[in-house]
Amino acid sequence: MVGAALACALGSNPITASLRVLVMDRGGPTEVTSPLPEVPDLRVSTVTPASVQLFQDIGAWEDVAPPRSAAFQHMQVWDEGGNGYVRYSAGNVGLANMGYVAENRVLQAALMRRLKDFKNSTLFWPASLEALTLPSYAPEAHEGPSTNSLAELRLADGRTIQARLVVGADGARSRTRQLADLRTFSRSYHQRGIVASVRTQQANDTAWQRFLPTGPLALLPVRDGYSNIVWSTSVQQAMALEKASPQEFALAVNEALNGGSTPAGNPLLPSRSREEFVAPPAVSAGGSKQRSFPLTLAGAGRYVRPRLALVGDAAHVVHPLAGQGVNLGFGDVRALSAALTHAVETGRDPGELALLEEMYEEPRQRENGMMMVALDSLKHIFAPQSGFVASVRGLGLDLINGTPALKARIMKYAMG
Ligand SMILES: Cc1cc2nc3c(=O)[nH]c(=O)nc-3n(C[C@H](O)[C@H](O)[C@H](O)COP(=O)(O)OP(=O)(O)OC[C@H]3O[C@@H](n4cnc5c(N)ncnc54)[C@H](O)[C@@H]3O)c2cc1C
Repeated sequence: MVGAALACALGSNPITASLRVLVMDRGGPTEVTSPLPEVPDLRVSTVTPASVQLFQDIGAWEDVAPPRSAAFQHMQVWDEGGNGYVRYSAGNVGLANMGYVAENRVLQAALMRRLKDFKNSTLFWPASLEALTLPSYAPEAHEGPSTNSLAELRLADGRTIQARLVVGADGARSRTRQLADLRTFSRSYHQRGIVASVRTQQANDTAWQRFLPTGPLALLPVRDGYSNIVWSTSVQQAMALEKASPQEFALAVNEALNGGSTPAGNPLLPSRSREEFVAPPAVSAGGSKQRSFPLTLAGAGRYVRPRLALVGDAAHVVHPLAGQGVNLGFGDVRALSAALTHAVETGRDPGELALLEEMYEEPRQRENGMMMVALDSLKHIFAPQSGFVASVRGLGLDLINGTPALKARIMKYAMG
């Protein structure tokens, strides 16, 4: 998704449209039927307003907009272990909605369709990267690439390609990152994320998230009466849920979302500006089969080398609890395409280390780093805690819920 979005950003900008861009992927092109299959695919992404703007700028949004995706007007977060909750509404900050939820394959197909419009873009697949030769450099000396020394890629079928810049957008297990010898830190959450498409018994226009002792459970509207479940939980529970029948799975989701007591908010805090708690819709059996994915936190120490930049999950992987993963990647796309626009305008080499560091790596490391810390802290704050910590956590949620200015700031940050 992120690599294709970068190629579209370059192709749709008249300044960078002259750059010759080769997009390669070891998988095939993503195609979707029209109309879409009745049951949405289980891999979805929340798309923040900032990412919607990117899709609009590159001319790919019309293939993603509802009814092919769903907008959500509200977001509600609450804690099974306490009385606190927070409910956000787009109307309170003068917006029509807070974002959209779209199937990954719908986002990918929209980008692929648009890519075919750019005459300087070439698509190669299936094509797998096998070897990469980059100009040598000493990181501490901040040397740029030696003149005329291009990057060279060797594909699994033996073809070789030379490039002024290689962008590694090949996901969390990036081969490009390994071949470039860029070190990463990585920490397993020892959890898995269960994902599934489910039907809801009432219409859904809210992104719901309940923090359970084992991890957060999100219910997100997708389209045509279906919602998506992202349930982060222990490896053991994830394995059991993966094997559950549709009826057993629906029962488990309903118990996890609606079981126990309903939070009433702290009675000692002013209720004037507080939005009331709303019970989430019940889900019915019948949707997709559920699948699970391991959850990790990972980040590359450096995003660039001479003639190389990493974007998206190749550079950073976050917990899915706030649906920020691919949106951080789309933020990388905006920054890297701005750097390459600057290079073309000023006649600089697009693979020059100083340009990539100043205009891409520094701002993105700062932005992504802040979000990684925020999400990791949230994950730990909501980990199972003693009664006292759980009470303070509930009080925190209530304070946010009853303080419009603080709520608006958090909303703006989450919406990119
Ligand atoms: C359970 C779960 C739920 C999530 N929910 C959300 C959400 O709600 N919102 C959100 O924003 N994010 C979410 N994410 C994260 C999101 O899915 C990722 O951030 C996003 O897919 C990253 O996109 P990418 O393009 O960087 O990498 P990928 O989507 O992984 O794409 C990498 C591409 O590189 C290709 N490739 C890999 N290796 C090679 C090679 N050697 N040669 C050639 N091609 C190669 C692959 O075929 C693939 O097409 C979730 C993640 C998980 C695990």
